[in-house]
Amino acid sequence: MVTDLHLTSGNSADALIIGGGPGGLSAALYLARYNRNVLVFDTGHGRSTHHQTNHNYLGFPDGIATVGLRELGREQLARYDNIRFVHHRVTAVSGDADRGFVATAQGGHSWHGRAVVLATGVLDHFPHFPGWEQYVGRSMFWCITCDGYENRGRDILVVGHTDAAAGEAMQLHSLTDRIKLLTNSETNQISPRFQQRLENANIPVIHDHIRAVEGSEGYLTAVITRNDQRLELDSLFSIQGATPPRRPAWHRSSE
Ligand SMILES: Cc1cc2nc3c(=O)[nH]c(=O)nc-3n(C[C@H](O)[C@H](O)[C@H](O)COP(=O)(O)OP(=O)(O)OC[C@H]3O[C@@H](n4cnc5c(N)ncnc54)[C@H](O)[C@@H]3O)c2cc1C
Repeated sequence: MVTDLHLTSGNSADALIIGGGPGGLSAALYLARYNRNVLVFDTGHGRSTHHQTNHNYLGFPDGIATVGLRELGREQLARYDNIRFVHHRVTAVSGDADRGFVATAQGGHSWHGRAVVLATGVLDHFPHFPGWEQYVGRSMFWCITCDGYENRGRDILVVGHTDAAAGEAMQLHSLTDRIKLLTNSETNQISPRFQQRLENANIPVIHDHIRAVEGSEGYLTAVITRNDQRLELDSLFSIQGATPPRRPAWHRSSE
């Protein structure tokens, strides 16, 4: 019977979804449509809470601001009374698929679910300087598929010290010939093969660190390096990696 699938008390659900960005909201939608009770935990700070507009989704001719996409998602999910939201950071999960899972949040609150979906996203390693977050998604990016096309013909500073950064600079070269690469690191790990490719494409490599930036209202105009070079730019593409946010501690059941 369908009702047997549900754990209906306030602190229980069929599925606990940790993360309420596009990933977690999509998981909630699909589970709700299979008639499951779902709890979505979200602290509201992830890749989808910056200022970017997504231009690569079919069906959004003017693009869609990611924050707006989250709001549309929440609006869509509001039609399902088997989805509930909890504004808490989950700090630990314990249990297993046989006995179910317990998610614990700050303050010691806990919830029980038959399944757990981790949709906690990743955090990009953007250069940090005072006010850096206002630039993310406006003139500071990381993804050529997402934001390369809008930057064609512009002055781009690629920031990174590896072949991944060199590769991004080479790909961006199909959209603009005004590119520089700044390592922003103690080491320059770009391989001789990529160094040669950058040189052939007339992309200068500057082995220095960001000391300060010039710009306002989210739009960078220049980066100042520790050695006092002033690098003018329209956009910065940061290729310095990404890591998962602090994931909830995971404890398997002891029996
Ligand atoms: C500048 C920029 C431009 C981009 N442009 C595009 C684009 O044009 N097109 C495109 O397709 N993609 C683009 N992206 C990527 C896109 O934003 C991400 O792929 C998307 O946001 C990933 O969604 P997510 O749900 O996996 O993670 P997130 O959006 O990061 O959401 C994760 C959520 O989980 C929550 N969370 C994390 N840990 C916990 C916890 N322990 N407890 C409770 N909640 C928690 C966070 O608060 C957050 O709200 C861009 C990203 C950036 C930064």
